[in-house]
Amino acid sequence: MNDHTAPFRTAINSVTWPDWVTWTVTFTQKTRSTIRVGGAGQLTLDVGTSSTPDRVAVYIQAEHTKLLAEAEAMRDRANLVTKQLVSGEGFNFAGRPYRLRVVRPDGRSIGRDAVRQVTVNPGAMCADEPGPSGWSGHRSWQLTLRVDANERHIIDWYRRRGLELLNERIPPLADRLGLKPGLRWRVRSYRPGARVSGSWGTYSNQTRTVALDWLAFQLPAPMLDYLIAHEVAHGVPGSRGHDKVWQSAMDRVCHGWRELRTPVRKCSGLTLWTGQVEPRPAGWPYDFDTENDPAPETSGWDVLSRELEGANR
Ligand SMILES: [Zn+2]
Repeated sequence: MNDHTAPFRTAINSVTWPDWVTWTVTFTQKTRSTIRVGGAGQLTLDVGTSSTPDRVAVYIQAEHTKLLAEAEAMRDRANLVTKQLVSGEGFNFAGRPYRLRVVRPDGRSIGRDAVRQVTVNPGAMCADEPGPSGWSGHRSWQLTLRVDANERHIIDWYRRRGLELLNERIPPLADRLGLKPGLRWRVRSYRPGARVSGSWGTYSNQTRTVALDWLAFQLPAPMLDYLIAHEVAHGVPGSRGHDKVWQSAMDRVCHGWRELRTPVRKCSGLTLWTGQVEPRPAGWPYDFDTENDPAPETSGWDVLSRELEGANR
C-alpha cells in the first residue's frame, strides 16, 4: 500500500533537523496546510487538500529557522496532543495504558473486529474494562466508548476514576502525616489552551482542599504518586510553601521525591491529551451498517489521493 505521507516527509527533510525533533504527518480536510509545534520537539504537519509536497518543501525551507526556534522554546514541555475517537486510540490512566474500543449501544464493536469483541459494559457511554489478553499473555485494558458518546464522556471518566483513586490514596497519606479530619479533595477541569507546566495541582489552606487537574492522571504512576503526596503534604500544620516542614513530610510519605520534583513540573517528553479531538476520518466507521449513519457526501481521502497521484506524475 502507498504511504501517502512519504512525499511530504521528503519535503520536510529537504532541510536538516536535529535528532530531538520528530515529525508527524496527518491529512486534514481543510484546504490549507498547517504546522503545529508541540512540546518535547514534536512537530506536526497537517496537510491540507490544496497542498503539494513541492509547496510544503518551499514553505519548510523558508520557515526552517523560525520553526526550529519555536521547537527549541517548547522542547522542555509536555507534548499536548489531540485524539481521534476511533478504535485503537490510546489513553493512559495512572500508568495503565488503555485502548479505545468504539461500540454500538448494544456493546458490539464497530470496526474490523466487530464480531470478535464483546464489551462487559453494554449501554455505558464510557467505561473501562479488561481488554482481550494479548498474544504475549499480557493483560490489556480497554476503554469502551459508545459511538454516540464524545470526548466529554472520556473526560468525565478521567475525573470519576481520578476521584476514586484519590479516595483510595489520600486518607492513608493524611493518616501517616497526622492531619486532622476535614481534608477534602477534588479533580478539576482543564481549559484547553491553558498553560500546562508546574501546577497540576493546588492545595488551599482556607478550604483544606487538594485539587488536581484531570490531565495529571495521565502521568506515569510514580509521578502521579509524587503529585498527590506533594499536595497532601501542604496540609501539614505549620508548613509554608515548600519549607522544611513540607520537605520532612515528603521524606515520610514519598520515597525519592527530590528526583521527581523537576520532571513532574516540566513533564518534558511526556505526551498528554488535553481533551481536544479531531474529526473521525471520512468514511468512518468502515462497516457501520445502520440506516442512521448517512454516508459522507465527499471523501477527503479521494480528493487527496487524486492530488497526490497528480503530484507524483
Ligand atoms: Zn507545592
